[in-house]
Amino acid sequence: MKPAQFKRLQQLLACPTAPFKESLVIAEVEQQLQTSGVDYFFDPHGNIVVGVASAKAYKKILNQRSKEPVRVFIAHMDHPGFHGVRWLSPTRLAIKWFGGSPKKHLNGSQVWLATNEGVTCKGTLRKTKLRKDKRAIETAEVVLDSALEIKTSATQLFGGFDFRRPVWKSGKRLYTRAADDLVGVFAILETAKLMRAKSKSAKQPAFIGLLTRGEEVGFVGAVAHLESGWLTSATRPVIAISLEASRTLPGAIIGKGPVVRLGDWRTVFNADSLKVLSDLALKILPKKHQKRVMDGGSCEATAMTAWGIKTIGISLPLGNYHNEGYEGGMDCVAPCGPAPEFVHLDDIEGELKLCAGLMKAGLDWGDPWEVQRQRLRKNLKSFRRYL
Ligand SMILES: [Zn+2]
Repeated sequence: MKPAQFKRLQQLLACPTAPFKESLVIAEVEQQLQTSGVDYFFDPHGNIVVGVASAKAYKKILNQRSKEPVRVFIAHMDHPGFHGVRWLSPTRLAIKWFGGSPKKHLNGSQVWLATNEGVTCKGTLRKTKLRKDKRAIETAEVVLDSALEIKTSATQLFGGFDFRRPVWKSGKRLYTRAADDLVGVFAILETAKLMRAKSKSAKQPAFIGLLTRGEEVGFVGAVAHLESGWLTSATRPVIAISLEASRTLPGAIIGKGPVVRLGDWRTVFNADSLKVLSDLALKILPKKHQKRVMDGGSCEATAMTAWGIKTIGISLPLGNYHNEGYEGGMDCVAPCGPAPEFVHLDDIEGELKLCAGLMKAGLDWGDPWEVQRQRLRKNLKSFRRYL
């Protein structure tokens, strides 16, 4: 990865974020888009639509007369974390957790706290209570390292688990607070930049990036966007591509390449479009990609599928999914306790190549099985006499 590109990745990964508290990521995204001259606008729910300057331009692309599908790449800007609820004393804050979390070794762990201006202080978690289903934190108290200098209302504050730094490299591993899904956001920004550079050449297929909010509590931003009807009423074919970092599993090993994601915990994705992605991966990343259902969690592809959009996915195998130390490593205090997420730089590079590959004109979205059918017919011919 080029140093400038790596710097953009680091800047994104350094942004504090939590569900519905994505403002600092949004500010960094806007900065990067403006620097590279890529158009964007905000939908009414605060999701960022990348690659077009207005709702009008977005609708125009979705309703152009063309057989070439619009590629809609989706990633989310939030990550599990907490919101401040009320002050219990000048240094004790009651908090509510949003999204997944570790379930063990919670009390005494370090957290960061931020407002829309940035990180304001650090603190320690105590009195954590898990949800009824025991799958994540429900509420807790944060004891601040010191009282805040500026008077801040409790509800302005949000936070998450804190580690030695927001992001650091060890070999080819990138440790960070929230690889899920800020690496996906990065991949969309880089693809947008690439498309912007190529936009003068003719016949470039249409690119849209959708950067969403509140994914960790049920794809809230994505569903709000779908409900607004732009994508569902498109008269031109649309392919949604979910970019995620998802829990490493057997067959989805960190460092062995990006994963052609056949499905998530809830559903399988679109078979025809997956054939295109799978063939593409074989061609441009031979032996450097993986393929499987990533059922460690569900993702926005589920929402897209539920709203009738043809959807595929690319996943980065992720260590310590949702900061739960399944794989351990640096700054993981105890097994399954709070830990930084980690991804592999080679996997990110592979993902960027796949995204660029999907933007090529002339991929066989219309009849991806034609070659396969020919092969099977030939096979039938050679075995027919046994029938
Ligand atoms: Zn995610």
